Amino acid sequence: MSDSYDVVVIGSGPAGYVAAIRAAQLGLKVACVEKWLDSAGKSRLGGTCLNVGCIPSKALLHSSHKFHEAASELGVHGIEVASASLNVPAMLARKDKIVDQLTGGITGLFKANGVTPVIGSGKVLAGHKVELTTAEGDVSVIEAANIIIATGSVPVEIPPAPIDNNLIVDSTGALEFQSVPARLGVIGAGVIGLELGSVWNRCGAEVVVLEALDEFLPMMDVQIARESKKILSGQGLDIRMGARVTGAVAGGDAVTVTYTDGDGEHEEVFDKLIVAVGRRPQTENLLAGDSGVTMDERGFIFVNDFCETEAPCIYAVGDIVRGPMLAHKGSEEGVMVAERIAGKHAEMNYETIPSVIYTHPEIAAVGKTEQELKAEGIEYKSGVFPFAASGRALAINDSQGMVKMLADAESDRILGCHVVGPNAADLVQQVVIAMEFGASSEDIGLTVFAHPTLSEAVHEAALAVDGHAIHIPNRRPRK
Ligand code: FAD
Ligand code: NAD
Repeated sequence: MSDSYDVVVIGSGPAGYVAAIRAAQLGLKVACVEKWLDSAGKSRLGGTCLNVGCIPSKALLHSSHKFHEAASELGVHGIEVASASLNVPAMLARKDKIVDQLTGGITGLFKANGVTPVIGSGKVLAGHKVELTTAEGDVSVIEAANIIIATGSVPVEIPPAPIDNNLIVDSTGALEFQSVPARLGVIGAGVIGLELGSVWNRCGAEVVVLEALDEFLPMMDVQIARESKKILSGQGLDIRMGARVTGAVAGGDAVTVTYTDGDGEHEEVFDKLIVAVGRRPQTENLLAGDSGVTMDERGFIFVNDFCETEAPCIYAVGDIVRGPMLAHKGSEEGVMVAERIAGKHAEMNYETIPSVIYTHPEIAAVGKTEQELKAEGIEYKSGVFPFAASGRALAINDSQGMVKMLADAESDRILGCHVVGPNAADLVQQVVIAMEFGASSEDIGLTVFAHPTLSEAVHEAALAVDGHAIHIPNRRPRK
C-alpha cells in the first residue's frame, strides 16, 4: 500500500463509498478509510445504511409486512390461511444475509474500481494528512492531496432513557430482537420510530409511541401527516403526542417508563424500549485542532453548497453536514465532490431531494409543503387525488391515502408532491424527475400514463391542480 493518494475518503457509508468509487472512475488514486468492525473483528464497509440502517430496516419491514398479510389480510382475496406463525430468528437471518451480501458487494466494487480500502480510524491533520489508528493501536500517516470526510452519524441518547442494549435499545438494537416483545415502547414518532415500530407491531407487539412534539411529522405536508397518523393509528400504533419522557428504569424483564403530557404524569411498563429521537454527527477524534475544518454548534461540519469545508482541499459529505440525513443525499454529494476534485463542473439540486418513510402505506415527499409555501408567501395551486378512486389501488386492496401536487399559481411549475399511499416512494420519484426538468403540472397532465397503474394517481393529482381530474369531482372545475 502506498501512503500517498489523490483522494482519501474517511468513512465508507453511502456518502463515502460512492465518492470513492466516482473519484476512482475519474482516474484518481483513492483510498477509503473505515473503522467499522463486526463482532468477529472483521472490517465492514457500507456504513450505517448497509449495516444497521436503510437495508436491514427495509428487509424487516418487508418480512413483517408479508407476515401481517398472511396472518390477517389474505382473507379478503378468498385465501384462507389456517394459521401463520413467525420464526423471528429466520426473519433476522434473512436480513443478515442481505446485509452481508451488500457490504461484501462494496468490497467487490472497490476492487473493480481500484479503490484501496484502509482499515482503521481516520483523523484529519493539518497539511493534507490523515492519521490512521488501527484497532490494535498502531498509528501511521497517509498523505492526501484531497480529503473527503464522510463519517456519518450515530443515534442521539437522552439522559432519561440510557441505552443498555438489552431492554433499552437504539435503532441498531431494535433490528436484533430475538423474539417479538409483547409490549414495546418507542420514544420518538420520527422516521425510525414509525418504521421500526411498524415492524414489531406487524409481528404482533402492542406498540406505544411517545412523541414530545404536539405536531405529528412536522417536516411533512400537514394534510399528508394528518392522514398518515390516522392510517398508522388504525393499524394499532398507539401514538401519544406531547409526551415528554422523564425516566426509563430497566429492571428484571421489563422497563418502566414515566412521561408527562397535558394530562399530567403517566407510567407504562414495556418488555422493550426503543429510543429513536434523532441522530447526531460522528466527529469523535476526527479533527486535529489545527486541521482548519470547522463545525457548527451542533457538531455538523461546516460546508458551502459544494461541500467544501473552510480548509482547502478538504470536503465533507453525507450525514456529517447540514441537510436531511438521507443515504441518497450523501451519495449525490459524494459524486459532486469527486467530480469537482477531478475538475468537472458539478453541482447539486437540494430542492428536489425526495424523502420516504417506509411504513405501509409509504409516506413520501419532494419539494415544498403547503405550510412552507404559505409561510414563504408563495402563491400556489394544489391538486389532490385519493387512492380510493384509483382502480389499481382497489384491485390490490391498498386504497388508503392520496397524492397531493402543488404548483406555482402563475407559472404552473411543480413546487412539491406529497404522497401517503401504496408505492408512494416510486410515485414521488416520477415527480422528482419532472421537477428536475422544470415541469409544470400541465406537463404531467399531458403525459400518457399506463392503465391501470398507481401512477395514474399522480396524473390525476396533476390534472386536479387546474380542476381537470377525470375520476373525481373537481373542487374548482376550469374549462
Ligand atoms: P454513515 O452511513 O453513517 O457512514 C459513516 C461511516 O464512517 C461508518 O461506516 C463509520 O464507521 C465510518 N467512520 C466514522 N468515523 C470514522 C473515522 N474517524 N475513521 C474511519 N471511519 C469512520 N436513509 C435513507 O435514505 N433511506 C432509508 O430508508 C433509511 N433508513 C434508515 C434506517 C435506520 C434504522 C437508520 C439508522 C438510518 C436510516 N437512513 C435511511 C439514514 C441513512 O442510513 C444515513 O443517512 C446514511 O447512512 C448516511 O450516510 P453517510 O455515508 O453520511 O454515513
Ligand atoms: P427523527 O428526527 O426523524 O425523529 C425523532 C423524533 O423524536 C422527532 O419527532 C422528535 O420530536 C422526537 N423526540 C426527540 N426527543 C424526544 C424525547 N425526549 N421524547 C420524545 N420524543 C422525542 O429521527 P429518527 O427517527 O431517530 O431518525 C434519525 C435520522 O435517520 C432521520 O434524520 C432520518 O432522516 C434518518 N432515517 C431515514 C429513514 C428513511 O429515509 N426512510 C429511515 C430511518 C432513519
